[in-house]
Amino acid sequence: SRPPRFHRHFVHCGGGQGAPSSLIRVMQWNILAQALGEGADCFVRCPMEALSWPERKYLILEEILTYRPHILCLQEVDHYYDTFQPSLRNLGYSGNFFPKPCSLCLDIEGNNGPDGCALFFDESRFEFLDSVSVRLSAMLIPTNQIAVVTKLRCRTTGRCVFVAVTHLKARSGWERLRSAQGSDLLSHLQNLVRGHPPGGTPPPPDVSDTPLIVCGDFNAAPSEEVYRCFATSPLRLDSAYKKLSRDGSTEPRFTSWKVRPSGECCSTLDYIWYTRDSLHVDAVLDMPTEEQIGPNRLPSFNYPSDHLSLICDFSFKGERENA
Ligand code: NDP
Ligand code: CA
Repeated sequence: SRPPRFHRHFVHCGGGQGAPSSLIRVMQWNILAQALGEGADCFVRCPMEALSWPERKYLILEEILTYRPHILCLQEVDHYYDTFQPSLRNLGYSGNFFPKPCSLCLDIEGNNGPDGCALFFDESRFEFLDSVSVRLSAMLIPTNQIAVVTKLRCRTTGRCVFVAVTHLKARSGWERLRSAQGSDLLSHLQNLVRGHPPGGTPPPPDVSDTPLIVCGDFNAAPSEEVYRCFATSPLRLDSAYKKLSRDGSTEPRFTSWKVRPSGECCSTLDYIWYTRDSLHVDAVLDMPTEEQIGPNRLPSFNYPSDHLSLICDFSFKGERENA
């Protein structure tokens, strides 16, 4: 008998305009690379058996299937070709994967290849238009962090949306690098959203901006500069999970909770950013309680990653029912 899954509930936000059939469910999740979990992370309160791939892969797929997102943004994917692409294809998803240039997974014995970011979408709901993979730079120097940006058209509303997934540099002491990577990603996104190729003549600043959703493990607390860069960008982004708080302006207390030999680490690192002028957050999946997570924290037999999934339902603003 398996331990129970977390029971999480959707918190509905006021003012939603979307018909239920036109809601867009987005999931952001760092699933924990198999090679890193077993060979690098040293989760001292997690039994090794809970980290075995046959255990974890079903828990990861179960989590995805429980919520059935239309858009799925994953980090630390080191089983794309042998697991996620084929299983999610059978469920009606199409995906793009981009590996990190020099994944730490490759240093681990018995690894399954590099980890990277994957972006999946439900083909019954979205039409694929374009996808680009970006190696993030910092002060013009290429780094080991990447992003995938995909342009989709919603089959229900006919509206287009850009979706990006990224995983910024980990560890304390690297705040400046994260900030530079975030700025680089923002400038790529500005170019893409405004529909002009790199190096082209910049268009006027506010023409026909397509809505944008950026999911990521930013490896940065809300107090970090990279968070401020996103919150104040000309792209006019907001962070969806603030909607969970009473005042609507505070991030959750944690999105990741683990115990390493160096101690316990309970932190907010993961975000879903969205264009606040053109998208509305209709619902957000709440976070499990400290009690649900349990004294040994994450990962565990109950939950396969040290990062929690973030899920929210969006609708396009100003949408008329075109049923
Ligand atoms: P990052 O610092 O971004 O970390 C890479 C991965 O390691 C992330 O997925 C991160 O997970 C995970 N991670 C973070 N903290 C720890 C930890 N304490 N123990 C184990 N894993 C952790 O590295 P880069 O991708 O920039 O660089 C990887 C390459 O550089 C590799 O070739 C590696 O050899 C080398 N490198 C080695 C370091 C080391 O200390 N051994 C440090 C930096 C680079 P999450 O995002 O969930 O935190
Ligand atoms: Ca990790």
